[in-house]
Amino acid sequence: MEGVRGPESRWSWVEVNLAALRRNTAAFKKRLERGVQMMCVVKADAYGHGAAPCAKTMHAAGASQFAVATVAEGVALREAGIEWPILILSEPPVDCVRTLVEYDLMPAVYTADFALALGEAAASVERVARYHLALDTGMTRIGVRREDAVELRRTIDFHRGLECAGTFTHFATADMLDDWDFALQLNRFTETIEALYGAGLDTGLVHCDNTPGTILHPECHFDMCRVGVGLYGLHPAETTYGQIDLEPVMSVRGRVVRVIYPNVGDGVGYGLTWRVPKKNVQVATVPIGYADGLARELSNQMDVLVDGTRCRQVGNICMDQFMFAVDVNTTRSYRPTRPVEYGDVVTILGADGKECITAEEMAGLRNTINYEVVCDFGMRLEKIYT
Ligand SMILES: *Cc1c(COP(=O)(O)O)cnc(C)c1O
Repeated sequence: MEGVRGPESRWSWVEVNLAALRRNTAAFKKRLERGVQMMCVVKADAYGHGAAPCAKTMHAAGASQFAVATVAEGVALREAGIEWPILILSEPPVDCVRTLVEYDLMPAVYTADFALALGEAAASVERVARYHLALDTGMTRIGVRREDAVELRRTIDFHRGLECAGTFTHFATADMLDDWDFALQLNRFTETIEALYGAGLDTGLVHCDNTPGTILHPECHFDMCRVGVGLYGLHPAETTYGQIDLEPVMSVRGRVVRVIYPNVGDGVGYGLTWRVPKKNVQVATVPIGYADGLARELSNQMDVLVDGTRCRQVGNICMDQFMFAVDVNTTRSYRPTRPVEYGDVVTILGADGKECITAEEMAGLRNTINYEVVCDFGMRLEKIYT
């Protein structure tokens, strides 16, 4: 609806660079040997980037399967017309087995009760439900304990409504180099796969590598890699820097909705945590706040870019707005070439000219990881695909 959605109605938005997403996806696909599939992880609305448009772009660049965290995320992808295989990365509540069958979503499975309920739901409509067996090889999160894997399969395999389409595990330390715990998990995984083969059981696709695993551990690509954060142009850790070329996909921008020259000593924002120190300082307002994913702990810490120049954010970040200061007379690193005006574009995340605010910079200020920074911006801001 004109004027209600998009930046015409609110001067703040997320830009998603689908061309960069396509290049990142192709860069990962190129690393996989022929026959190794790429499962793109689009949970949490594609880490805040918008699941359906991202999935379509990824598929065009070589992805053949997709993974989400929740049943609702899987259903949303189906309703957006995504017809490729979708894995739910954990075992959902048993009450949704009919939904899984109806929408052809593959759950992770690790309990017999859930598996048999799924099989019943499928058999009752003359279908076969495909699932992936999840193995806990040492992360202590989800999955069947490796020593119980063969027995679980033997308990459920009789069911005509079930088909094992994959067997996987997840690494806790794939981003570390020469890590003993990683080696241990990988050993346990291969041993369990061999035990399943030895018992005459079909494992389906064998997979374990996430983004850092895919980059640093090609020896365990097996049949498929589950790539997430790297697709969005973010490195999972410093250990992958220089190992693959990635372009950040998300930028966050807004426009100045108000700007004044306050009096010296005037306070800014809730609690008046910043005060105007001298004359000729502008304070400008941008309509993005913590309900849009701009974490409040960034208050009085972060910079924004105007015309490729850094400006300091000042005052506590509000729910829907924040303020920044422009010291019109500064000459060092904060160096505005001109006063800010109503309507000026402000970059909160991403590049502007030669300057760039990275998700890593923001994560450092928040004491978190780049993953959380981009997920958070998915909350409320409109997305523009370029
Ligand atoms: C989130 C997730 C991934 C993707 O992880 P990245 O580090 O973003 O590549 C892969 N597998 C599982 C089970 C996950 O939960």
